[in-house]
Amino acid sequence: MDVCYLDHNATTPIRPEAETAVLDALRRCGNPSSVHRAGRHARQTVEAAREAIAALVGAPPDSVILTSGGTEANNLAVRGCRRPVVAAATEHASVLSAIGGLRTLPVTERGLVDTDILEAWLAAADEPPLVSVMLANNETGVIQPVRVVADIAHRYGAIVHCDAVQAAGKMQVDVGELGVDLLSLSAHKLGGPAGVGALVVKGDVPLEAMLRGGGQERSRRAGTENLAGIAGFGAAAAIGANRTDWRRIDRLRQGIEDGVRRVCPTAGIIGEEAPRLPNTSCIAMPGVNSAVQVIRFDLAGIAVSAGSACSSGSVRDSHVLAAMGVGSEIARTAVRVSLGWTSREEDMNRFLDVWTDIFLKARASRPAEASAPKTSAAEERMS
Ligand code: PLP
Repeated sequence: MDVCYLDHNATTPIRPEAETAVLDALRRCGNPSSVHRAGRHARQTVEAAREAIAALVGAPPDSVILTSGGTEANNLAVRGCRRPVVAAATEHASVLSAIGGLRTLPVTERGLVDTDILEAWLAAADEPPLVSVMLANNETGVIQPVRVVADIAHRYGAIVHCDAVQAAGKMQVDVGELGVDLLSLSAHKLGGPAGVGALVVKGDVPLEAMLRGGGQERSRRAGTENLAGIAGFGAAAAIGANRTDWRRIDRLRQGIEDGVRRVCPTAGIIGEEAPRLPNTSCIAMPGVNSAVQVIRFDLAGIAVSAGSACSSGSVRDSHVLAAMGVGSEIARTAVRVSLGWTSREEDMNRFLDVWTDIFLKARASRPAEASAPKTSAAEERMS
């Protein structure tokens, strides 16, 4: 059975160009710090990748610190700044758990940060903090008004960090336009390999290294570079968001949401009132637990996630949905569908068939509603 992969926010299939770059680098031996020819060649690979990564977000190459992924980039930003931290309540765990004493900024029901509260906090703060607000949320796809946040924060002398891990490769990301001081990226969310990422740091932002040792990454992140990973990241970054027709992906996502609503008008689409990434839909199926849905989808060859898959495969209540005021009853029925460059219309249709089947069977098994009219999955979709 072909797998219908609708979990691009968990990780993306590797782009062929990135795979080739990884394999080429793996086959070569050379430490980028060595002065001999093999070392120089490895150094060229790292610097070419750094340039592509910098270009992806409109930053100068020397602002890019290569890391082991988005988690390390977020930790480095939040801990390395040595300031009190204010972070949106819907941030990824790699921000929220990076440091103790962090203050969480509430979001509205649409999932957008409350900028009035931010401003009030900043005005009352003893010391200008680091403000961390992600560009796009991994569970809902909700896009934050990062520029607005940055302008407010800078008026009060704060430093602004943006976790752009989910956004990069799915929409245009430009550090200058966002007006942020620090920006996190991760290769495996944009068609590169897992285990490599970057923190982009504006020139004058002081940052204390977390990993110390050799002087790699200009002493901001010690450790021999992950050459193959970095090469793959560079190749994926060079493709960026440009090769995928995101309007087509948006239409598929719309098709999924319309199809679900035709079958069940009360199905919840979480975050739909806010600007969202074109690929993400967080769908609550009334009455059916998300873990059950994920298993049923998996048995039908469809990969989707319940809540955030970044944790451990375990299904816990989502802090993102809770912060948006989504009640636990509904949150526990939410499944995240995330499309990407490999997604096709067949995937949308297959998902809708299985969604409909799960929903109708669950409805039929509930005594009070057992008499409701039954329709086949295909008929439901056509109607
Ligand atoms: N930030 C966001 C928004 C994410 O979705 C993830 C992973 O899913 C991360 C950070 C962590 O990135 P990585 O998996 O590269 O450590």
